[in-house]
Amino acid sequence: GVSKNIKIFMTQYRQMNLLRSQAYVDGHWVTSRSGGEFPVYNPADDSVIQNVPDMDEHDAERAVQVAADAFQTWKHISAKERSKIIRNWFDTCERHANDLAEIITAESGKPLSEAKGEVAYGNSFLDWFANCARHLNGEVIPSPWPNKQILLTRQPIGVVSVITPWNFPYAMITRKVGALMAAGCTCVIKPSEDTPLSALAAVELAEQAGVPKGVINIITCNRNNTPAVGKVLCENPNVACISFTGSTHVGKLLYGMAAKGIKRVSLELGGNAPFIVFPSANIERALDHAMLAKFRNNGQACVGANRFLIHEAIYHEFVEGFKARIRSKCILGPGTKDGVTCGPLVNMEQTKKVAGLVDDAVKKGAQPLIGGKIAAELGNKFFESTLLVNVTPDMKVFNEEIFGPVASVVKISSEDEALKIANSTKSGLAAYVFTTDLGQAFRMSRELEFGMVAINDGILSAAEPAFGGIKESGIGREGSLHGALEYTEIKYTLMSGLED
Ligand code: NAD
Repeated sequence: GVSKNIKIFMTQYRQMNLLRSQAYVDGHWVTSRSGGEFPVYNPADDSVIQNVPDMDEHDAERAVQVAADAFQTWKHISAKERSKIIRNWFDTCERHANDLAEIITAESGKPLSEAKGEVAYGNSFLDWFANCARHLNGEVIPSPWPNKQILLTRQPIGVVSVITPWNFPYAMITRKVGALMAAGCTCVIKPSEDTPLSALAAVELAEQAGVPKGVINIITCNRNNTPAVGKVLCENPNVACISFTGSTHVGKLLYGMAAKGIKRVSLELGGNAPFIVFPSANIERALDHAMLAKFRNNGQACVGANRFLIHEAIYHEFVEGFKARIRSKCILGPGTKDGVTCGPLVNMEQTKKVAGLVDDAVKKGAQPLIGGKIAAELGNKFFESTLLVNVTPDMKVFNEEIFGPVASVVKISSEDEALKIANSTKSGLAAYVFTTDLGQAFRMSRELEFGMVAINDGILSAAEPAFGGIKESGIGREGSLHGALEYTEIKYTLMSGLED
């Protein structure tokens, strides 16, 4: 049943030209210089969806040169015209929303309903940045000199290297590329080797929407070629900025290379989000939102709740409610099947990592109340939705980003203790707090060392707010007007009259 369904979808894509098997450079669909290719797999059944080019450093050099040449034209296009082009891209993607969702499900494994959510989320950035393009205003500063004016204008920074992960393979493209296009920049995209197909589809739709050649280029490569391609994308003198979403480990590597050329970086890295519930909270709401914050995308989200810090006064009620909800709401299976809410993990590496984290915790005394192992009857990449209690800070599951469907619960007895535990991590992306005590809500928002704090909510992503982390979770913000300003430089011009 499942693979047959996917084949039917695939036939449809081929007719619509959305399932691309080539990269896109200078307005042309191209193969790799070497002719090499690599397969993209469907994690639900290990079938090969499509082969794509395995490109190397020479292909990367060429793509950067093309983007640099295109920048010389694109930067002079009026903000009004840029806005119109991004708007066209948005409209085109909206028309193909269902097709895009099916490609995302095929390559990432996430349920179709969530893939549709990702497309809506991804498209919202194109809508947002189409507007932002016309609001990247400068400033006129009151001058200390009577006959001189101080002008600050915003100029596009130049060529941006865009390197994206597999967990939101479509939305991470539009969130970055919409912003940099609005600012007047051009780019070279390198998507994750696990999920290049939705990125290629997004670029196909950009071409259909009339994005000029050279403004968006995309190259694909497999793991062996990634370090060499990454070096070009970070070190080529024509690259002005590296915009990366992925692991903190790779982020540090890219930041080091960017430093050699004093290049700008935008880094969205891993998180270790606390989800804190105090006695005054509406527990039913906290539970509903715990399900979203933990099990959305099967736990593979950088803002996903990683540590549940539950006050002892409501601990029993919360844990029992969580267990019941996981049992009734987490339906494991292939993402194309109706009613499924949790798909497979994206690849074997991630599955082994999640299993290893649970084993480590159980060895050190944690107890799985539900789940805890690979659901072998479904396939080798399906992991049971898991609730772990008696988790302590010496366990890896507590200190590392789990990136899987495992909720670990720690009992706390005071606000101070909650803060101390929550902040005891190098990550600082998202935090969640459930309380109806207004003073406590403001104190927590101020004291939590995280870039984003949600009070009484488990979902905080949208195009309007500024998304990003502090500490080792990254540098810079995406979405909001700040997201477009990341790709601009401030130019100071002094306008002096002929008399002082
Ligand atoms: P990753 O950091 O390994 O990969 C992200 C992107 O960087 C991919 O496109 C990858 O090909 C590329 N990359 C890897 N090495 C590179 C190099 N030397 N030069 C240039 N590019 C390189 O992340 P992943 O494999 O997608 O996921 C692994 C871990 O990353 C997860 O377990 C999770 O902890 C974290 N992660 C975080 C986020 C987030 O949004 N913060 C997203 C995805 C993954």
